[in-house]
Amino acid sequence: MQTTFGTGQPGRESTDLAFTDPLTGLGNHRRFFDKVDRLIGDRADDPAPFTVGILDLDGFKPINDLFGHKAGDDILIQVAMRLRASMDGHSTVCRIGADEFAFLYPMVFSEEQAAEKSRMLIEILSAPYDVGERTARLSASVGCSLFYSGDETTEILINKAETALYHAKRSGRGRVVVYTREMEEAAKRVTRIEQALRRAVSAGEVEPHFQPIVDLNTRRTIGFETLARWTDRDLGMVPPSVFIPIAEERGIIGPLSQLVLRKATEAARSWPKDLFLSFNLSPSQLVDQNTGLHILAILERTGFDPRRLEIEITETGLMTDPASAEKIVEDLRRVGIRVSLDDFGTGQSSLGRLREFHFDKLKIDRAFVSSILDDRPSEHIIRAILAMCEGLGMDVVAEGIEEEAQADRLVQFGCAGGQGYLFGKPVDADATLGYLRDSYRGALYAKAI
Ligand code: C2E
Ligand code: MG
Ligand code: MG
Repeated sequence: MQTTFGTGQPGRESTDLAFTDPLTGLGNHRRFFDKVDRLIGDRADDPAPFTVGILDLDGFKPINDLFGHKAGDDILIQVAMRLRASMDGHSTVCRIGADEFAFLYPMVFSEEQAAEKSRMLIEILSAPYDVGERTARLSASVGCSLFYSGDETTEILINKAETALYHAKRSGRGRVVVYTREMEEAAKRVTRIEQALRRAVSAGEVEPHFQPIVDLNTRRTIGFETLARWTDRDLGMVPPSVFIPIAEERGIIGPLSQLVLRKATEAARSWPKDLFLSFNLSPSQLVDQNTGLHILAILERTGFDPRRLEIEITETGLMTDPASAEKIVEDLRRVGIRVSLDDFGTGQSSLGRLREFHFDKLKIDRAFVSSILDDRPSEHIIRAILAMCEGLGMDVVAEGIEEEAQADRLVQFGCAGGQGYLFGKPVDADATLGYLRDSYRGALYAKAI
């Protein structure tokens, strides 16, 4: 195996093992930092920009698991060879993490050029890899940053490239993102929200709101979905589409979820006993084996009957670690908690999942419902989902119903359950009690509440 670094000439440093990645023979992270440090030094008097980039292989872990570690190592060696071969005489590539590579382009001066070079690397890595008798394919994501002024340190430059890489990964596979100032602003905003949210969760300031789920034929309310709501003193009302992903990424989702579930079950205790409560679980909670224990402990403490609780999970939640998700779900099911598949039809839908996993209920995503009246494909998809649910013995709820005509059409197709602004927006615990009193004024529930 060669022990030269990048495509640079083998020099004094190339014999220094402390700077070498033993698997691929590329330089390691120390070598990379050293190279960038030196280039910043060289550019002190000549502030010409240059580019650093970080490349991360997409989905390397599943390949490693599928083909074995030896094959994983072989692929990494092939990746390193391709990257090294694509560098010109000025440029360097190093391996800085398990499946992370960094490159330095001293002669790339603009964002357009940086993006173009990075796309070329992704292209080169997309050709198949030989793994014994078989072949594997990989994609990669890249984040780049440009050095513009003498104020920037190596660490800052690399952090910026990491931030850009994070944005690239979030937007899908095989993407290139070059760092911009707006990204920095966005990163700062996320940090502000994270800090405020941590404080709010400790102070118990996130509240459950409840949205009715109805029997579409009778319009009778059969249960409520719990939806977290948070208003910060300084930031104002922050929507869950913003704070839930941040809570997931920054490890706050567990405590947040426990707080909301505790408050929700306390509120729902006084509702009529035939109403269920549904509650969303995030994908990251389905890889944490404590999730089940926490939920059970809360139900025990609040005295809420587990048979009245449903958890809503998405297909994304099942993908990361299906075995772990299955174990958590089985633990919950054992005490009578029901399981719904949320947002069906969006994201990474797989019908195979419905064979492997038993769900009690499926929720058809709002995207189909909102176009049911004027879009033939949506209509056909909904009918197919309903037929499938009937065959598999699953209940169905259509989400996001806003108009009478949509509800009528769904009833006509045989959809039993519905949820949406037409029947009620999510409101807090007090307003929910008021809603229950009004809906059943003079009827059966007036006595019960
Ligand atoms: P979801 O679980 O699919 O919840 C349904 C979303 O659709 C809610 O948005 C609800 O307010 C909205 N919605 C309901 N009916 C209509 C309608 O007729 N029209 C329109 N335009 N929207 C409707 P919300 O409350 O903003 O929540 C967004 C997402 O955040 C939820 O999607 C869920 O994935 C997540 N989320 C909310 N609370 C929690 C929580 O406590 N824990 C976790 N893990 N996720 C939560
Ligand atoms: Mg939901
Ligand atoms: Mg949903």
